[in-house]
Amino acid sequence: MPKTTPKQTKGNDKGPEKTPGLLSDLNFSLKGRCPVCRKGKLFSSFLTITKKCPACGAPLGDHDIGDGAAVFLIFLLGFSLMPLAWIIDVKFAPPIWVHLLYVGGLGAIAVFFLMPAVKSYILLLEYRHRPPKDGQKK
Ligand SMILES: [Zn+2]
Repeated sequence: MPKTTPKQTKGNDKGPEKTPGLLSDLNFSLKGRCPVCRKGKLFSSFLTITKKCPACGAPLGDHDIGDGAAVFLIFLLGFSLMPLAWIIDVKFAPPIWVHLLYVGGLGAIAVFFLMPAVKSYILLLEYRHRPPKDGQKK
């Protein structure tokens, strides 16, 4: 049973722990892997986080990330798609159904591809900053 969290690195006695950068974390989140061992699959189905990591047994289901991923995506897509719709409306003045098509389509596609990654990223941050209280209990 591994006893490391993503925050822990080798050589802890050499100074402050060095955490991976944002790009490294985002790249890792796209893979949908366990934040503890970085090997086991994180999702048992499309958006369901597995109860225990199949590789290391980390209790991934103990964390409750709630609606954090959905709220994050609402902000991200709201602040990117709405200005796009406004710019297209000002430049081309298309009928409203055209706006509904591309905003709805792009939004649905973005949610489909980004929701698992955002959930994975939030879980990674939660493990890094708030590990389970009783360690890596199975
Ligand atoms: Zn694991």
